[in-house]
Amino acid sequence: MNTTLTTKKFFDAVLFREIWKAMKVTFRHMFHKPMTFQYPREKRTIPDAHRGALGLLRYDDGKERCVGCDLCEAACPSHCIKVISEEDKSLPLQRYATEFYIDITKCVFCGYCVEACPVNALAMTKVYEFSTHDKRTLLFDKQRLYEIGERYLEDAKRYLYAHNQEKEGEESRAYRYHFPVPVEKSPES
Ligand code: SF4
Ligand code: SF4
Repeated sequence: MNTTLTTKKFFDAVLFREIWKAMKVTFRHMFHKPMTFQYPREKRTIPDAHRGALGLLRYDDGKERCVGCDLCEAACPSHCIKVISEEDKSLPLQRYATEFYIDITKCVFCGYCVEACPVNALAMTKVYEFSTHDKRTLLFDKQRLYEIGERYLEDAKRYLYAHNQEKEGEESRAYRYHFPVPVEKSPES
């Protein structure tokens, strides 16, 4: 056996050289700011553009924005959206979604559905904690989607601003598509 190598190994063992090497690394990192978070006690700040749980939004007067056009359903690459719509009897030409489902277990959080929506009725929030023992609860229905939209409205708005889909103020309101208000025919016409 090589005598030099044996001697080196002997001194490494006697002087605990490997342990000192490891301690050097430990001490060096003791003075660094920790990179990790003690989740769930500590949570990191989520950026506005974060793609979390989807929610449905209303206009400021409480009216549902969704017009049941199905564009989000068509844009979804995972086929996890189902919209059922019908005409609003009181407002001819205007439609609304009677049922709306998103199977969040299939969602890949790509945001295509939000981009496809012509009235910004859908938005993503910063919600990411919806793990459950019951997979059936992850089929979000219209009521749950509106609840998310109402509860995390600020997140949803920030998401739309961060993705340049909506701006604050009158200018953005002008470009949002509203269905025309039906004009009542006068008896003479
Ligand atoms: S985020 Fe993407 S995968 Fe999820 S529902 Fe929207 S379009 Fe479908
Ligand atoms: S959420 Fe938007 S894209 Fe989807 S059906 Fe409603 S209005 Fe159309």
